[in-house]
Amino acid sequence: SESRKRLVIGNWKMHGTLAGNASLLADLRSGAGEAGACELAVCAPFPYLAQVQSLLQGSAVSWGAQDLSVHEQGAYTGEVAGAMLNDFSCRWVLVGHSERRALHGETDQLVADKAAAALAAGLTPVVCVGETLAEQEAGRTAAVIARQLAPVLALGAQAVARMVLAYEPVWAIGTGRTATPEQAQQVHASIRAMLAALGTSQVRVLYGGSVKASNAASLFAMADIDGALVGGASLVAQEFLRIAAA
Ligand code: PEP
Repeated sequence: SESRKRLVIGNWKMHGTLAGNASLLADLRSGAGEAGACELAVCAPFPYLAQVQSLLQGSAVSWGAQDLSVHEQGAYTGEVAGAMLNDFSCRWVLVGHSERRALHGETDQLVADKAAAALAAGLTPVVCVGETLAEQEAGRTAAVIARQLAPVLALGAQAVARMVLAYEPVWAIGTGRTATPEQAQQVHASIRAMLAALGTSQVRVLYGGSVKASNAASLFAMADIDGALVGGASLVAQEFLRIAAA
């Protein structure tokens, strides 16, 4: 909202094939012009970044990865460095997605370190936060978000100003259960207040969790929701483009 340009990022997660990606990317490329004032991006699995680069370069759609290493290089088998993502002209990298936190033990501090590593490599980290169902039911949403963001905000205003944040309640990811626009707005407003206290009012805060073309407009109507991070619906070109047009 306000002067923050709307941003819609697709998170393909561990989906895709060379053949399937080719048609999805061609459809995004040709349809992206209709996304209007919205900035559009996709975050693909590492092995497909070269394909994404070759099929999206020169289009209105930018791209990125779903994770990066905190390290610059070295004996870290299986890890991918920010500089490697730069080699494929990535603009974005997701950091601290709830699946990384839950399935790969990523801590709040590691997530902040990854955000710093992304910035050092010239990438824009999309830092994901969000509470679990149990935490929400216990009324702990605000406390969890504050705890997750603390080491990120500790990187300082200059660093945070170069990030994007994404609020993704874990109970809404891949479940078909979306936060109501009012529910999401309440959390976004609290994140916005933390950003304002740091002096960074231009940082975009995306919402994620079962965003579809049918619910995007009502979410985007909220004052502090600046776009979306989209999982499942980003795998279907027309659905993803309709979200961007919402
Ligand atoms: C996500 O994984 O970032 C996400 C929001 O997934 P979905 O849209 O499928 O809920």
